[in-house]
Amino acid sequence: MKLTRRTFIERLTLSGGSLLLASCAGAEAPRPLSGEWKPAYEKLEAEGKLAERIEQANAIFESCTLCPRRCGVNRLNGEMGFCRAPADPVVFSHHPHFGEEVPLVGDRGSGTIFFSNCNLRCVFCQNYPIAHEGRGRKITVNQLADMMLDLQRRGCHNINVVTPTHVMPNILSATRVALKKGLHLPICYNTGGYERVENIELLDGIVDIYLPDLKYMDGEQATKYSADASDYPEMAQEAISEMHRQVGTLVTDERGIALRGLMVRHLVMPNRVSGTREFVNWVSNNLSKDTYVNIMSQYRVEHRAFEYPKIARAITSEEYLEALEWAEDAGLHNLDCRSVARRQIFQRRSFF
Ligand code: SF4
Repeated sequence: MKLTRRTFIERLTLSGGSLLLASCAGAEAPRPLSGEWKPAYEKLEAEGKLAERIEQANAIFESCTLCPRRCGVNRLNGEMGFCRAPADPVVFSHHPHFGEEVPLVGDRGSGTIFFSNCNLRCVFCQNYPIAHEGRGRKITVNQLADMMLDLQRRGCHNINVVTPTHVMPNILSATRVALKKGLHLPICYNTGGYERVENIELLDGIVDIYLPDLKYMDGEQATKYSADASDYPEMAQEAISEMHRQVGTLVTDERGIALRGLMVRHLVMPNRVSGTREFVNWVSNNLSKDTYVNIMSQYRVEHRAFEYPKIARAITSEEYLEALEWAEDAGLHNLDCRSVARRQIFQRRSFF
């Protein structure tokens, strides 16, 4: 029978489903039973420290330094900085998400809350109406807590806060409100990586899963494509090192579902713009070779990317395959299973 692209992908998916979940989970990681597991924020609340941490976080709104832009605006008085975010959270959507990494998705989905606005505003943003234009609905902390509980009721495995940096204090406040109403899922902090380490330190003992991007290894690229964020590489690396210190490598439950740990994303861009070789070497040398790494292939020419010749095309098969080879050469062995599946697809392109 002729192997078409469709049948190849179907076979890969059908034969690999449970195996992929197991391999994504990190075979060496300890696996606590999910029934015995408690989220970090529950322990911090029991120690009487969560409220104080939330107070510290909310104070940052008065002269906003929630991210390295350090605008210094008083968001509580209605002032807005670079991200154009008000002090109240603005949410575009919340729902179970099945497109995230397999240990987050499991069989019931990752409980995703998409926040509007962003502190990076990349020229190639795939969500620019939400991230750049701030489309969404302004809500209260109590409503945010209700969204978390709704996702839990729907069976999601975690609360996945997407683009959380500029609303971090709101997320902490909502988590405490939701905890008092029975929230028990891990918080997954899904960030573009442009963070201040001081603020990540405030999350110690609250966030269980960190899911940062490391987008660039060179400040010139960050300057060009992410609104003059020339310090992005240093800021992101410092923040990710602190995340790793807090939660370590990925730990999953008996079903292979993420409970705690660091998962790093890196988008391969055309013409080696994102510095993939430097990225994998940095992870290998500064975090751990066990780090869960998702090397992503889905770069698309979105928003204003067509104005920049180096990034005005998709990546080639060769660019993706060399990225995976660099990762292997660096000794990274806990790659997202979809990276492995994508490699098989890229390698078999000549079949079709
Ligand atoms: S979160 Fe927004 S207002 Fe605050 S420092 Fe960053 S860009 Fe500026």
